[in-house]
Amino acid sequence: MSQPTQAEIFAALSAQSSGSFKRSQPPTQPYTAFDSDSNPKDQLTTSQNGKIMNSKRIYCPREGCGSVILLDGIGEWVEVEGSILPDDPTSPFPSSSSPHAYWSIPSGPFAFENIGFSRPDISNPLPAFTPKDVPGQGKVKWLICAECDLGPLGWSYEGGKGAWLDIKRLRYGEKK
Ligand SMILES: [Zn+2]
Repeated sequence: MSQPTQAEIFAALSAQSSGSFKRSQPPTQPYTAFDSDSNPKDQLTTSQNGKIMNSKRIYCPREGCGSVILLDGIGEWVEVEGSILPDDPTSPFPSSSSPHAYWSIPSGPFAFENIGFSRPDISNPLPAFTPKDVPGQGKVKWLICAECDLGPLGWSYEGGKGAWLDIKRLRYGEKK
């Protein structure tokens, strides 16, 4: 076995940074791919028993992470009157704009393939129109990627079952 040459090491490093060393991942697209020239709701949802459910698998938004967050047919499309998650200009997420839509997952954490939670956050009360399932408002817990910690991707409440994911902070794949 010979030692790798400097050139080989450099090639390996640049391949890594360009992403060709990633483990195999299904092709996914950001929300903006569905938002460009047609109605994203039509492309991302399907009607199931009178409910508008996600028609595509949902993935971590970080390119190269690829963690599966939710399978298709689990989250219901809900719209609210304004933006709920904090808008941070330094975050990788698009700034909020209409429609302010979320995937509602009423049955909670076990409906997810992978999801992480922040600690309860009492410094950041959510707006009054935020959908909630806890009478009297539990403390907010932010949803984050279970693998790379990117977030917040959505929110849930301490002591509650329901969870909501921001449709614009996710990537989408195809149904198997
Ligand atoms: Zn991730």
